[in-house]
Amino acid sequence: MKHTVIKKERLSQKASSIQPSGIRRFFDLASKMDNIISLGVGEPDFVTPWNVREASISSLERGFTAYTANAGLPELRQAISHYMEQRYRVHYNPEEEILVTVGASEAIDIGMRAILDPGDEVIIVEPTFVSYAPLVTLAGGVPIPVGTNAENHFEVNPADIEKVITEKTKAIMICYPNNPTGASLNRRKLEQIAAIIQKHNLLVFSDEIYSELSYDDEHTCFSELPDMKEQTIVINGFSKAFAMTGWRLGFVLAPPDLLQAMLKIHQYSLMCAPTMAQYGALEALLHGMEDVEKMKLSYQQRRNYFVKTANEIGLPCHKPSGAFYAFPSIKHTGLSSEAFAEKLLLEERVAVVPGAVFGEGGEGHIRCSYATSLKNLEEALNRIGRFLKKHDWQKRT
Ligand code: PMP
Repeated sequence: MKHTVIKKERLSQKASSIQPSGIRRFFDLASKMDNIISLGVGEPDFVTPWNVREASISSLERGFTAYTANAGLPELRQAISHYMEQRYRVHYNPEEEILVTVGASEAIDIGMRAILDPGDEVIIVEPTFVSYAPLVTLAGGVPIPVGTNAENHFEVNPADIEKVITEKTKAIMICYPNNPTGASLNRRKLEQIAAIIQKHNLLVFSDEIYSELSYDDEHTCFSELPDMKEQTIVINGFSKAFAMTGWRLGFVLAPPDLLQAMLKIHQYSLMCAPTMAQYGALEALLHGMEDVEKMKLSYQQRRNYFVKTANEIGLPCHKPSGAFYAFPSIKHTGLSSEAFAEKLLLEERVAVVPGAVFGEGGEGHIRCSYATSLKNLEEALNRIGRFLKKHDWQKRT
């Protein structure tokens, strides 16, 4: 294996201090094995609907190959504004409150860079998406984790947030429906968080990239809560609901002062999101909602199957209300999530992600993506059932 010699003195302290993604490390191991069933990947198993691909192809045929406006195609920002108005009755001015980004990932990055000074703290509700803490660190901030647990359905206890607020706290990062737990937050819970935001005059990053994949309840956008728009940076994008991960297209909504600061950073580091991808996204927003609904129904069926069968084979699993992840408990096995995932991979060739990589509250769980065919799910659960039985780890609930 090729070994990278790290000459530490060449690297910044920030770059040295962050670790490679725990998910990637694990999948490098899986990629060298045969006959693997993967419940590991965090992306849809659908190809982007044809009309969206066609709109993008057509933009190339028409010769739209130059940069767009830095903030994104005006028609796309207009469509995003219309979508927010229709869905959540919250108005965003396309001229100064909407920025089209290179995935939600860029939105999180430039959002952090726009608000953080060295030493500023960002409270991150965990377990959650692996990028938040490193992006806070890279922006010079300090991530402060607040854990949640299965007993509380992975819903944050607002008092736990309040406990860790200091004079350095700048923002709170929340994600619902959540990666990896699938948990969502209802309006009442969001209002409790909003009260803390208001009391301490903080900002909130609300990552709502799975908003369209909410199965049980209507999704509430954080900025539609009374007086919250002024304090909220909403992150969303096309990767998940529209099955467009490879297109690298997201968007961020924020009050003008914050958005204009993000736009400056975006302007210098990215210039604009890819033009052909923006034409595809425009088509997705204007004519893609029926397809989103179909894909959502399909994930929902797979969720129901996975959760029911997991519990039947002795793998205790709460019912996630959104996204496409289940987060069963493996606490009763006595193994760490990393050890469990590795043993499962080596003995039964099923790839899952150890819960510990998602931060506080993640240990004792594994993340299983059910965005794969029912046939794969069936085979994976067969293998997991055999594995649990062999080691006498079937938990009867
Ligand atoms: N937020 C969450 C919660 C995610 O799960 C992901 C992708 N796994 C992202 C953001 C990044 O999405 P994008 O592809 O739009 O960069």
